Amino acid sequence: MKIYTAGMLKTFSQCPEKYNLIYNEHLEAPSDDNSAVIGKKIHSLIYFFLKGANVNKMILSLDNPQNENLKTLWKNFLSFGIRNVSECELTFNVILNENILMTGRADALREKKDTIEILDWKTGSSDNINPEREYQTIVYLYCVYKLLFLQHRIYNPENLSMTYYFLKNKTYKTVKFSKEKYKIYEIYLNELTEKIMLYQYNTSNFSDKCVNCSFKIICQNTY
Ligand code: SF4
Repeated sequence: MKIYTAGMLKTFSQCPEKYNLIYNEHLEAPSDDNSAVIGKKIHSLIYFFLKGANVNKMILSLDNPQNENLKTLWKNFLSFGIRNVSECELTFNVILNENILMTGRADALREKKDTIEILDWKTGSSDNINPEREYQTIVYLYCVYKLLFLQHRIYNPENLSMTYYFLKNKTYKTVKFSKEKYKIYEIYLNELTEKIMLYQYNTSNFSDKCVNCSFKIICQNTY
């Protein structure tokens, strides 16, 4: 059985060759990008905070100029007033069909009466993101719904939503799930994963997208 994540689907849609390098050949491009490190730290801090741990020491340890970005993200997170969630870092493994397992981890779930909301912390800017079209939205709403349905916690897709909290911009965007979306997402995920499995990885031509690609130093397309 093949296992896919939202990140894998997104990478394939950006460039099949990049997908091939990362997930088939297991190559990593060298990077001096600090944003991934900050992302991990803020997710960890929020996780412990929502689990009720005393995070004062962690926050005090941030008190140096190198951590200014992290401190701002933390301050902005607190401004949303999120204190109580029903689950943190919910891992899901959901069977899509006899060949495919979809997996991922939702940052948190919040329940109100008979509705459930998937919460996701984003450290990047909200400017160029349309949450309705994000692979993460499609995979998370579809899979978390299937998981919660099997757990007898939800019976109607209309009662599930996903909210992205953009910690940098102090904004949030919510996407509601629906019966129609459930069917559309299911067809889409089946078609896309089948396409990935059957894809013939030939090197294609150099294109504009290659200019800023961190994989260009190891990608055959750029030789
Ligand atoms: S250099 Fe171009 S073809 Fe190669 S992985 Fe990057 S975007 Fe894809």
